[in-house]
Amino acid sequence: MHRRISVLLAVLAVSLAAALLGAGAASASPLDPPGGTTDSQTTPGDDPGGGGGGTSDPCDLYTPDSCMGGDGGSGGGGGGGGTGNPSPPSAQVVQVMVDNARLAAKKALVDKPKCFDLLSLTDSRSPGTLNPVRVIDTVPVTYVNDGTLDFGYSPGLGVDGRISILPGFYFITFDPAYQNQGYVDPSLYFDLPAVQLSVADMQLVVILHELGHLTGVNVHEGDGRAPLLPEEVGQEFNTQIYVNCLDQGAAYQ
Ligand SMILES: [Zn+2]
Repeated sequence: MHRRISVLLAVLAVSLAAALLGAGAASASPLDPPGGTTDSQTTPGDDPGGGGGGTSDPCDLYTPDSCMGGDGGSGGGGGGGGTGNPSPPSAQVVQVMVDNARLAAKKALVDKPKCFDLLSLTDSRSPGTLNPVRVIDTVPVTYVNDGTLDFGYSPGLGVDGRISILPGFYFITFDPAYQNQGYVDPSLYFDLPAVQLSVADMQLVVILHELGHLTGVNVHEGDGRAPLLPEEVGQEFNTQIYVNCLDQGAAYQ
């Protein structure tokens, strides 16, 4: 509990620092607060950067924090993704997947008390602004094609935040043949000897991971530059999501 409170204080401190820096300012904080999260799914850098207009780095649009960008640092993005990242078929198709994951996230929170507690700073069921069920019911959870292979980002705090899901969410695959086109290495994202995951399961993990940023329980470092380290993708928190929120993880409780 004390650790969680400390985390919240750290979050508030970072948020205050970001506010003092001015809206939209790009700081280089090593933290990854709710106000500025993007989560890469795999090694970025496969985008040659040719698809973006010079100053349209999507990271600068949304976060006062350092961004786990997926464009290799060359200013790509801008909607097209260049030639490096394939484009999802349509925003509507991806949004359906996002909506399904959101429903699955709410179901996990409602059906699994340990999952709720994991996502809650206080474990309280009262409908405060950081109550994870209220947050997932309230905030926009929207697909945004920023041309990266990141999972998503979640600026703001509690019911005042939002979750933006990025193309990497759609391209999740566990086939190592797709190293730079959506491959998810479970051993990077989970600290367990073996995990059983479908694509939908991993998408659920993504939504709950982002929700954790908004409720203040998920704070991890990361600059988004390959090679990603376990702590930079929130491995510890992802593992707890697997254990407490996914049916197949219950055996680890
Ligand atoms: Zn994250």
